[in-house]
Amino acid sequence: MVCPLRKVYLELTDACNLDCRICFRHQWVNEPMDMTQCLGENVVKQLKSISSLETIVLGGMGEPLVSPLFPQMVKSLAGKEILLTTNGTLIKEKLTKDMVAAIDLIVISIDGMENRMMQDRGVVFNELISSVDYLNQLKLENKLGNPRLDIQFVASRENVHEIFPLMDLLAEKQIRNLVISHFLPQHPDQADDILYQRYENKPLKELFHKIRNHSFKRGLRVQFPEAELKTERRCAFVSGNATYITSRGEVAPCYRFSHQGSEVVFGRFKTLKQFSFGNLADKPLMEIWSSEAYLRFRNRIYNNHYPSCPDCDLVEGCSLIQDVDFDCNGEEPNCSDCLWARKFVICT
Ligand code: SF4
Ligand code: SF4
Ligand code: SF4
Repeated sequence: MVCPLRKVYLELTDACNLDCRICFRHQWVNEPMDMTQCLGENVVKQLKSISSLETIVLGGMGEPLVSPLFPQMVKSLAGKEILLTTNGTLIKEKLTKDMVAAIDLIVISIDGMENRMMQDRGVVFNELISSVDYLNQLKLENKLGNPRLDIQFVASRENVHEIFPLMDLLAEKQIRNLVISHFLPQHPDQADDILYQRYENKPLKELFHKIRNHSFKRGLRVQFPEAELKTERRCAFVSGNATYITSRGEVAPCYRFSHQGSEVVFGRFKTLKQFSFGNLADKPLMEIWSSEAYLRFRNRIYNNHYPSCPDCDLVEGCSLIQDVDFDCNGEEPNCSDCLWARKFVICT
């Protein structure tokens, strides 16, 4: 039986107005590209016709507010739950009162205070915070309470202590949800910046405990990633019946397989590549979603019928961990070393 498609991550562009230190896009060789008008119209038509589809996340590996299609998408997709993930820097320039009222949730990336945000993302912190004020003002005007505002904090050794002053500020700005995700290094020289560990991680658990206490006092709800490797694995994309459409129309299972790139998993460098189950130029979305290959893949991941590299005795000598082509059961693509399924990396 084919599970209903519930959620689509829609990448309107893979271009961005920033050039953050932690960005996955540094590994790309292709020029960034906006989704074309023609593909955008095709996607809207298809998404509107899928009755099971509840949520559309306008986000992906790029800044959605850079896309010329953004206003039209928000308007055309009315009736579905619309989420926007953004670096927040173009909010005042691009988001109108009507658009804001039509969006259910906006997730803004903020992972430090003034100096950190300038150093890592080239962002003027006060201007970013004024975008939060702007959204709060529009929320007051539209009287709908829309959109909810969440903040995503990508935590590393470098920035994690800045979460305390940030929480104070967010509480003042009526933000209620803070999502912490771990930094996923892309180069070996970033490998030591991570906070998570394979085994017992007392220092991080204590730090999370302090963050939790601090958040309670400020009325913030914090979603934490795991601090250490757990046996349990859960792919939020597969379990959530979600898929990812790139700006070029490729249908990938998740963020990790949406583009080429690299990652360092517990010190081991790995080359990532895009894994697509089809392109919307060739086939309708539901045909791709229901294809045997995609069904088999989801079934394998949902039922945890795939190997596990981080706790495998052979990991230090295994050549399969250098890329994501195949796992040691001969299945492709290789999810066995995925830190998203381990709840170290979290996305909305
Ligand atoms: S805002 Fe996101 S997509 Fe843009 S450069 Fe930064 S990390 Fe990359
Ligand atoms: S691919 Fe298989 S053999 Fe290689 S490290 Fe992972 S689980 Fe172990
Ligand atoms: S397990 Fe990881 S790599 Fe595999 S589909 Fe889920 S998020 Fe993607």
